[in-house]
Amino acid sequence: MSYDQPQRLKVLLALPVAQPFDYLAPLTEDGKALLCRPGAIVRVPFGRQSRLGVIWDDDAPGLDAKATPIPDDRLKPIEAVLDLPPMGAAMRGFIGWVSRYTMAPLGAVLRMALPAIVIEAKAPTRRLCAPAPDADHQGLRLTRARKAVLDEAKSGPPQSIAALAAAAGVSDAVVRGLVQAGVLMITEQSGDGAFPAPDPDRLGADLSADQSRAAQILCDLVVAKAFAPVLLEGVTGSGKTEVYFEAIARALQLDAGDDAQILVLLPEISLTSQWLDRFKARFGVYPVQWHSDLGPAERRRAWHQVASNGARVVVGARSALFLPFRALSLIVVDEEHDPGFKQEEGVLYNARDMAVVRARMEACPVILSSATPALETLLNAREGRYRHCLLPSRFGSAQLPDIRALDLRVDPPESGQWLAQGLVDAVDETLARGEQVLLFLNRRGYAPLTLCRSCGERLSCPHCSTWLVEHRYKRQVQCHHCGYFQPSQPDCPACGAEDAMVACGPGVERVAEEAARRWPDARLDVMTSDTITSPAKARMLIGRIEAGETDIIIGTQIITKGYHFPMLTLVGVVDADLGLRGGDLRAGERCWQQLMQVAGRAGRADRPGIVYLQSYDPSHPVTEALISGNRDGFLDQDIADRRAAGMPPFGRLAALILSGPDLDALNGAAKAVARAAPMAPGIAVFGPAPAPLARLRGQHRQRLLLQTRRDQPIQKILKQWLATVRLPSSVRLRVDVDPYSFL
Ligand code: ADP
Ligand code: ZN
Repeated sequence: MSYDQPQRLKVLLALPVAQPFDYLAPLTEDGKALLCRPGAIVRVPFGRQSRLGVIWDDDAPGLDAKATPIPDDRLKPIEAVLDLPPMGAAMRGFIGWVSRYTMAPLGAVLRMALPAIVIEAKAPTRRLCAPAPDADHQGLRLTRARKAVLDEAKSGPPQSIAALAAAAGVSDAVVRGLVQAGVLMITEQSGDGAFPAPDPDRLGADLSADQSRAAQILCDLVVAKAFAPVLLEGVTGSGKTEVYFEAIARALQLDAGDDAQILVLLPEISLTSQWLDRFKARFGVYPVQWHSDLGPAERRRAWHQVASNGARVVVGARSALFLPFRALSLIVVDEEHDPGFKQEEGVLYNARDMAVVRARMEACPVILSSATPALETLLNAREGRYRHCLLPSRFGSAQLPDIRALDLRVDPPESGQWLAQGLVDAVDETLARGEQVLLFLNRRGYAPLTLCRSCGERLSCPHCSTWLVEHRYKRQVQCHHCGYFQPSQPDCPACGAEDAMVACGPGVERVAEEAARRWPDARLDVMTSDTITSPAKARMLIGRIEAGETDIIIGTQIITKGYHFPMLTLVGVVDADLGLRGGDLRAGERCWQQLMQVAGRAGRADRPGIVYLQSYDPSHPVTEALISGNRDGFLDQDIADRRAAGMPPFGRLAALILSGPDLDALNGAAKAVARAAPMAPGIAVFGPAPAPLARLRGQHRQRLLLQTRRDQPIQKILKQWLATVRLPSSVRLRVDVDPYSFL
């Protein structure tokens, strides 16, 4: 359809811009304006470049109506409407909502939903082998290997060279030889097609009574096709995954052959090989994946198929929430308490919370699953805003592990060692039984601090206010905040003293060194983000543990997430006090969650598990709660404290982080922001104060914290406040609504 009059359109660019810009509708060949609707994905001229954008709604909430429009004759026409499924109204509404809530520019949120890489990546082609139609077999020496390949090729659909070789049990060279001989031919196919659909009718697990009850509630919500948040809370090993698989199956059955789509968010997608295998065992195929380790072609295929409905179940990291689903019928957020759902760069959003928002806009249920729900989620469930499904015990005969403290004041490790005798004895016994041990310390590297024995110099980052962490395997000292590193050196860089640098405190590498010395025959694996550098590496390490090829695992929080190792019966927490230092709002809660999760790796099958917490302060409420199993006592106290202090979820918080290269300019700006702070009942402003990370990547940093009552519109308050201050161009201000990091 076309128009005679030029049509003025709002186009939101996928760039950090706050508002859409006006453009003219593109012209058809006969010079008429093409009719364009909101949601169309377009390319427009912007400056000297051409940019991606989406035609936006004229009346979207939050758009700046005051600006005087540019006259028609100065507007540029849209270059092209791309041949992509348009972005739906619910998605546009969601993008606007996230932008208003997080106070991130609208275009920055759009950019997450419209990654240039998926639009620009070329459609991949796959080279497949099939028998050539009228091949001349004369003169071909038909070896056993060649015959196997031909039989295989004739028996099924075209396959890649590698797949065909693997199926026939021969090397790739044999297949290539047949291609050269003209017996097989290569066809190119688009690798961009729909993904095979999961089969919901395969037999699921035989659910226990508790599990069936929970699954029934979830399935009913799926069938009702309405917004419904539900907390699926079950102790570690209770079978939460099996239970929500039933809800996924139900959603797939609902619209069989039609268009139900399901999204599962996991906190650390590259580590989920076990989850993927379980999904495949249940549904016959792998789910579609979305995460940062995918190559451009894989991303492109996933994005396009989500948009055109060739992807039914998608599992992804937080950014999967911004995929262009057409018909979401269920969202699952697994390990919903995980702080990894908060994105700390670019648009600062919490994917768990935004998943609930998206579910509301799509009118579908959202399942938040955890053994250690976030306090906010738990309160939402207790107060009836969320449904609550409980799995009170482990599946089958497995029992929850016995958790004990090892008081390091009574039984300290020898100097330069980190494992107390009580733990060492337990490891001895466990290894003697042929079972596995996990030593947990949430600290990468060898030692968190290196200092000079002679002058006291501490190695620090030249760009950040932090110590450099020694990584002995790599012979480096590294900054964990900016990535700076330098080679380890024995001599002091300050006073020149020879061989004077000493390592202080333990990291996982140092614990591994001690374990190797104590148990020279045991097979060790260190699991941290330094050793697990890809999903393939993760799969290999996990496979080794599952196959019983590892005796002692030494790992950081990366190993606490959802794994199931039947032979793992002893967990030693090297420093149970570590997470309690620093003490921000959520320190206690987070430390409790993390230790509960790591403890949850022990004794998950028929062999009982035991957990030792090494601590200098075993009477701390968190440690006590873990040992006594009195979770509610601990959480109730935390809730009472937060209520009294007006902290989330009883009040709202937003952090203002100012940064800049010039300290004076920054401090001046921070003071100016503070002077303009709103004063009203229920509003409190703290700061400015130097951030705990006072310098990061060469930028100085100051922080302010705004606290309001729960019923006050914190975004509006911030907007009015910040509209009154002008910052020097060298100073950058970031707003973090619902902050998780206070660094
Ligand atoms: P959670 O996610 O609650 O920690 P999982 O879903 O990982 O628990 O289940 C723990 C283990 O018990 C897994 O190996 C799982 O396959 C097994 N399991 C749970 N429920 C059942 C069931 N109904 N039938 C068979 N195996 C089950
Ligand atoms: Zn640094």
